[in-house]
Amino acid sequence: MNSFRTRLTLIIIIMIALSVSASGFLMMKTFKENHIDALEDNMVREMRVIAAREDWRTGNLDDMIDYYTEQAHELRELADARVTFIRNDGVVLGDSDNDVRSLDNHLHRQEVQDALKKGVGRSLRNSDTMHQSMLYVATPVEVVPGEEPYIIRLAMSLDAVDQSIARLTAVLIAGLLILFVAAALISYRIAQGLTKPLEKITRVAKRIKNMDYRARVEVTKQDEIGELGTAINAMADSLQVQMSRIKQNESQLESVLDNMINGIVMIDANGVILLMNRRAEDVLGFSARELVGRHFTDAKQQYELSQLIQEALDTKEHLKEETTFYFPEERLLELNLVPVSAGPGGGFGGVLLVLQDVSAIRRLERMRSEFVANVSHELKTPIAAVKGFAETLLSGAVQDKETTNSFLQIIYDESDRLNRLIGDILELSKIESRRVPLLFSPVDLDAFVGKTIALLEPEAARKDIKLSRDVEQGLFIEADEDRLRQIMMNLLSNGINYTGEGGKVSVSIHAAGEDYIRIEISDTGLGIPKKDLPRIFERFYRVDKARSRSSGGTGLGLSIVKHLVELHKGTITVSSSVGIGTTFTIELPVIQ
Ligand code: ADP
Repeated sequence: MNSFRTRLTLIIIIMIALSVSASGFLMMKTFKENHIDALEDNMVREMRVIAAREDWRTGNLDDMIDYYTEQAHELRELADARVTFIRNDGVVLGDSDNDVRSLDNHLHRQEVQDALKKGVGRSLRNSDTMHQSMLYVATPVEVVPGEEPYIIRLAMSLDAVDQSIARLTAVLIAGLLILFVAAALISYRIAQGLTKPLEKITRVAKRIKNMDYRARVEVTKQDEIGELGTAINAMADSLQVQMSRIKQNESQLESVLDNMINGIVMIDANGVILLMNRRAEDVLGFSARELVGRHFTDAKQQYELSQLIQEALDTKEHLKEETTFYFPEERLLELNLVPVSAGPGGGFGGVLLVLQDVSAIRRLERMRSEFVANVSHELKTPIAAVKGFAETLLSGAVQDKETTNSFLQIIYDESDRLNRLIGDILELSKIESRRVPLLFSPVDLDAFVGKTIALLEPEAARKDIKLSRDVEQGLFIEADEDRLRQIMMNLLSNGINYTGEGGKVSVSIHAAGEDYIRIEISDTGLGIPKKDLPRIFERFYRVDKARSRSSGGTGLGLSIVKHLVELHKGTITVSSSVGIGTTFTIELPVIQ
């Protein structure tokens, strides 16, 4: 841009210089010519005066030479010019500046010939005698009537003219130089005025190129450059809109990708990783920053996965496999490799690897089938007992009344157990599937605990167990009262069941901070061995099968409790020492 401005300035300056020097040259030429013309006119006039006033004598040549030489000297003073008198045969009679006898015949001098032919003759030449540029003007004078005229000639040096021209040239050059500098400055300003807006527009265009879409041209004039600026601004506007749209789409896509529960890895046809979402980072144990842009084999991952990706790239077909990963943690992953196309109309663009963690699903499936097996097993025992004793009775044992009674009692107890078992199973499945919604209402804890304990009092009394409570006054919580009772009854009856005669079971409820209450149910019973503690909330898990069975337990109570506590958004923990006692601690939020 700068060079454009310089070029423009240079062109203007050269044009100015050319025109200024051409006009200077012409001026000088005209000046010189005018000057010489004026000089010539003057000389002619002077000669006419001389011709009219002169006393033209003739006679002896020597006398004539003396006379005219003197006349020439006199006139020199007056005319300030060289004066020459020439006879009609070309002999010089008198000359103001030279000795006449040294001069040759002047008849064929240009000015003399012209004067004879046209009346006035002139010549501009270097004088042979004076060695300088001279203007000669001659006119004829009739001295002897009927004869050829004499010639009178004036000559002036042009040195004076040359000097004044030199002076004029100096002045002119100085003037021209000033003019030139002024013109150069002005033309630079003009070029700047032209190029500055262009430079501004270029700067804006460069900023836009560097993705600064807020850059705008300041449009001040509505000329062509102004229109260019407006067009660039419109372009920047539409770029800005489009970029923000693209960014928005990108961030939407990014947030979708990052919040997906499945890992996504995109690999191009050459095996270079193009994209990786956050879940894929977790699952594979690599960060996108270290892998994106690199070949998939650069990730030191499970061999099977690399092999599978290679296979998908080679076959360009959808592949699906389930593999256990041991790094960064043990997981069962379902891998789906889907071929993708390279843009609209493009061929094979690579593969999309979808990683789905199916560990939880498989664990659930396993648990479900284990549960079915457990349930069947649990149901089988009482049914076998009922069936066995009924068969014995049928095959004749009815005769013995005592045996019959005890058998019938067994059959009754077993069917009662079966009933409870089925009841618990139904209850658990109802809670787990959340088919029955909780009905929350404010519960006055003191009164609630009082009533619950009263229900268990007879059972405790049978084993001579002391039931005690310590409930902070005025505590209320928002809960489903029936479910809360179920929780308390289960834990308290476990306490009674697993505590020996004369023991103690106690309930304490206190506020735990502003938003929670803490319920502690402790007993002085058998306790639970440390190794069993993590498992007691599992379904059908019992520390001691025989004792649980004899106490009528189903092994489902604690799982039901845990589920109900969680439905109330609470937590349950247990601490226990074998032979000393067990404490279950529940924390529930005051407001649901
Ligand atoms: P159960 O119907 O057998 O009582 P639970 O799910 O209620 O089933 O309890 C699971 C197991 O946890 C019980 O079999 C028992 O071994 C142990 N357990 C539960 N509560 C206590 C406790 N208060 N003291 C000692 N052991 C307990």
